[in-house]
Amino acid sequence: MFVVATLALAYSLMQIRENSTWVRHTNDVLRLIAGIERAVLQAESGERGYLLTRVDEYREAYETAKSTLPHALDELVHVLGDNAEQQRNLAAVRSSIEMRLTQLQRVVELAQTDLQTSLDILEQARVDLLTQRIEHGLSAMTKFEQAQLKERQHNFERSNFAAAAVAACLVVLALASGVVGAFLIERQRAMARQQASDSRLRELQSELLHVARLGTMGEMSAALAHELNQPLAAIANYLKGSRRLLQDSTDKSADRIRTALDKAADQALRAGEVIQRLRQFVSRGETEKTNERLDRIVDDAVSLALVVAKDREVKVSLDLDPAAERVLVDRVQIQQLLLNLIRNALEAMEHQDVRELQISSSRGADGMIEMTVADNGPGIDPQLMDRLFLPFMTTKTAGMGVGLSLCRTIVTAHGGSIRAEPRDGAGTAFRFTIPSAEVI
Ligand code: ADP
Repeated sequence: MFVVATLALAYSLMQIRENSTWVRHTNDVLRLIAGIERAVLQAESGERGYLLTRVDEYREAYETAKSTLPHALDELVHVLGDNAEQQRNLAAVRSSIEMRLTQLQRVVELAQTDLQTSLDILEQARVDLLTQRIEHGLSAMTKFEQAQLKERQHNFERSNFAAAAVAACLVVLALASGVVGAFLIERQRAMARQQASDSRLRELQSELLHVARLGTMGEMSAALAHELNQPLAAIANYLKGSRRLLQDSTDKSADRIRTALDKAADQALRAGEVIQRLRQFVSRGETEKTNERLDRIVDDAVSLALVVAKDREVKVSLDLDPAAERVLVDRVQIQQLLLNLIRNALEAMEHQDVRELQISSSRGADGMIEMTVADNGPGIDPQLMDRLFLPFMTTKTAGMGVGLSLCRTIVTAHGGSIRAEPRDGAGTAFRFTIPSAEVI
């Protein structure tokens, strides 16, 4: 396209150049024709003047015109070299001029000696209409030259218009293909960006799923351990009591019963130890704290949570304190914590016409950062407030009630605390603290 446009432009420039050459050429021809006409007239008036007055000045005027004419005619022959028709016209005019010059020559020569013959020749010239023929021939040549220039200019305008139209079309085409190209590149980039963000979301999801499973398991095991520990201790105590009661018995099967009770007590203690170990294992929790950017963690958690809420419109407003930029946390755990709170908020706002989720952070004086996840849902039943963070506490039919309990475990493992508060107006605000990575 570029090559064709360049060719069209070059063609157009060549045409312009050629056109100006033709204009110059025509000007030269017209100038020469006018010069010749002037010289013929000058020679004639010189001749007449001399005949009438015999003043030499007139004769000189005639001589000058006579001497310049052959040069002018030769020059014109040269300039018209390329044009056969004009050459023929010029040949005819030239022979008339030469005839006329011969007449003039004779008239001037005879003027001194034979005035009558001179006047006869002059009269003959008038009858022959030679001068008129010369004028007529020169004027025909002028018209021919002008007509030719006009036609050339007409052709030039046509071809120049065509070249300009081709160039304009190509420019439009180039612009259009540029726009299409840019659009395609941008679309490809957008797709690549989308793919990258999808795969990052998938990665985050699987990371969090793993932590969530472990966390849920941990919470359930811890709760079970807590619940089972007491009955197991009671069983062990009852067994010990029964053993004491049998201490002094003389019954012959008492020995066997005592052995069985000892074994049962051993097993109860073993069960207790197993549960204790399980609890320790769970509560040990492997938190690996690193220096992280809080805004990134929040962004990831929000985009993950909104994947689920895709069909529901949620107004999310983030207000993160620039002075609380970096945190020392286990990134995945804090994402899990935020994800749980955001999910609960989204579920709470399910029947709300306008769903507003607000996430903010602010730096406290104690080197901790307080984060708030607030919604405009119906709020929490005040009677549930005390038990909110206990495992298995749920008001949802499909809920497990371990989400908030896991949140508390994560926050505690980071040395922080978590609480829920009703908001002014409507809704709930969950506030928790995590350590800042920046020393004040
Ligand atoms: P689950 O979501 O499985 O019920 P959670 O421990 O996450 O378990 O939540 C416990 C309960 O706390 C929920 O069943 C709900 O009644 C209440 N709750 C949690 N977050 C909110 C909230 N943002 N608004 C109102 N109630 C909430």
